[in-house]
Amino acid sequence: MFDVIVIGGGPAGYIAAINCSKNGMKTGCVETSKLLGGSCLNVGCIPSKTLLEISHKFSEFSNCHNEGIMVSKPQINVEQMMSVKTRRLQTLAGGIDTLFKKNKVERIFGLASFIDSNTIAVANDKFSAKKFIIATGSVPNVFSDFIIDEKNVCTSTGILSLTEVPKKMVVIGGGYIGLELGCVWSRLGSEVMVMEGGNKIMPSMDDEISSKSLQIFEKQSISFMFNQNINKVYSKNNKAIIETNEKMFELDVVLVATGRKPNTQGLNLENAGLKVNSKGFIDVDKKYKTLADNIYAIGDVIGGAMLAHKAEHEAIAVAENLIGKFGHVNYDVIPGIVYTSPEIASIGKNEQELKNSGIDYKIGKSSMVANSRSQAIGKTEGFAKILACKKTDRVLGAHIIGCEAGSVIHEIAVLMEFNGSAQDIAMICHGHPTFNEAVKEAALNII
Ligand SMILES: Cc1cc2nc3c(=O)[nH]c(=O)nc-3n(C[C@H](O)[C@H](O)[C@H](O)COP(=O)(O)OP(=O)(O)OC[C@H]3O[C@@H](n4cnc5c(N)ncnc54)[C@H](O)[C@@H]3O)c2cc1C
Repeated sequence: MFDVIVIGGGPAGYIAAINCSKNGMKTGCVETSKLLGGSCLNVGCIPSKTLLEISHKFSEFSNCHNEGIMVSKPQINVEQMMSVKTRRLQTLAGGIDTLFKKNKVERIFGLASFIDSNTIAVANDKFSAKKFIIATGSVPNVFSDFIIDEKNVCTSTGILSLTEVPKKMVVIGGGYIGLELGCVWSRLGSEVMVMEGGNKIMPSMDDEISSKSLQIFEKQSISFMFNQNINKVYSKNNKAIIETNEKMFELDVVLVATGRKPNTQGLNLENAGLKVNSKGFIDVDKKYKTLADNIYAIGDVIGGAMLAHKAEHEAIAVAENLIGKFGHVNYDVIPGIVYTSPEIASIGKNEQELKNSGIDYKIGKSSMVANSRSQAIGKTEGFAKILACKKTDRVLGAHIIGCEAGSVIHEIAVLMEFNGSAQDIAMICHGHPTFNEAVKEAALNII
């Protein structure tokens, strides 16, 4: 009998398992896939960032003659790029196996399904535990008339393993996954168009960030169509076909990036007295406890920001809660980062949210044109924007487009975690020349 079995070996599951074991519990972790790490490591964060980095280098080499570096026109070897990606993620997955061994987490292979609230079946075996943590994550959300073959019509999974650079590609959905992966193939030479159902890209981001990024992507030769009503997507004769109300498009590859949905398939939740909510997520209380007293859930499967670092934080919190401590996650301070070039990063409230909730705020902005590091490297697109409470000066949110914005935003994360003010940022002596100086300038400019 285990003290706890974690179902799912993604960022939520493997970190929960390691921490439960560290907290003195006899722990098992069930995972269907051969490689631990979940979507993040196998088909998400890591492979996408590897391809973003390689394609970024490719585009830098293609344009370096502007800075006096003469190289012959670079060529991309897609097969080699993909094998580099696979090697890197295998190394990371192997690292998690090592951590399991070191921390005495028992690895169980296969698909877990509940027999009752204390027992699961995995293949032909049964395992019992006093407690369970469900961390089964999410899968791509695909509408029923979109027929995926992961060759011409792909989800984010298939697009990370293409065997050649498509000539023409459409990304359906202007969220961060679609934009990052669209950028990868655009940099490598595809003609990329993004078709979005709404009227803006990255709808949850600050409006100014969303419109500035649109301008930047358009300058990078990605085109956009908004308010698109797509009826059908399918493949025919090695082409991808998109049917809208008005038109039919024929392309080489379509990436369907229309969000992700919770994954509870095969769990037989009802045998444990559990059910999903109307959107398919598992509801939990503040301690991550489900309707069943001994079953907890964390990560993408409970909803909220579907991000690996949010899942990891919940994993640490739940492992604390299981031993009677007070693990919690500050959901007001979770950075969101888009790893395009330049990077886009956001934390806390955006301007629309503050307006809608009637909070009086003030804004400080600083353009990357005025940032000496950005000028030094010739990448001056973007800005830093800080939103602070009008009365108290407390920072309520920050939104940055610019080089290394995804790292720079963490300065604000630390500040917000300690309830800091815009004046606090302005008074910190920032290194020169750094991208972070744009944050200081934005704080100094606050009105
Ligand atoms: C293309 C892409 C790029 C992304 N980039 C980023 C990024 O840059 N930054 C970021 O923070 N997030 C990113 N994400 C999101 C991130 O991958 C997820 O938020 C994160 O993986 C969620 O972790 P999780 O552990 O909850 O679920 P998952 O990672 O989905 O893991 C769930 C695991 O459970 C296993 N499982 C499911 N059912 C069972 C069962 N019944 N029995 C046994 N095992 C089961 C699955 O095989 C899977 O391994 C990206 C996602 C995608 C698709």
